[in-house]
Amino acid sequence: PINQTKITFPSRSSNEAFARGAVAAFVAQLDPTVDELADIKTAVSEAVTNCIVHAYPGTIGNVYITVSIFEDGRVRLRIADKGVGIADVQAAMQPMSTTGGAERAGLGFTVMQTFMDTLRVRSTPGKGTVVTMGK
Ligand code: ATP
Ligand code: MG
Repeated sequence: PINQTKITFPSRSSNEAFARGAVAAFVAQLDPTVDELADIKTAVSEAVTNCIVHAYPGTIGNVYITVSIFEDGRVRLRIADKGVGIADVQAAMQPMSTTGGAERAGLGFTVMQTFMDTLRVRSTPGKGTVVTMGK
């Protein structure tokens, strides 16, 4: 990457807006279109919300974001936690697959996939989850 930033913050819901804004502010140097910026903010919001809601049940842990900018103008977002992890990533990524009960739609990964060009999810139960997205 020709430029990069790392942000770490506790998995409090008040930090979701901070994360979205911080990533948008960093990516702004690429002069993205309004639509591109909105897509990135939506994807960050979904990934960070997952860390807040699912990664650390009943407790607070850190969320780790790395934003990388490449010479050709591409952006890579890495959003990670050291939480409970996901036993079956393939299944969790299916639309409407949720462990969140009635108040969750199970569409977060689907939204990330739709609004970004690439999405990779790696997770180890008991160790945590890493979501990498590109645009
Ligand atoms: P929605 O995002 O629509 O509110 P959701 O969060 O359940 O609902 P997804 O974001 O698609 O839907 O995630 C699917 C499932 O994957 C979650 O219900 C949860 O079980 C698991 N999951 C996602 N992210 C994490 C994470 N960071 N740590 C642990 N489990 C996760
Ligand atoms: Mg979600």
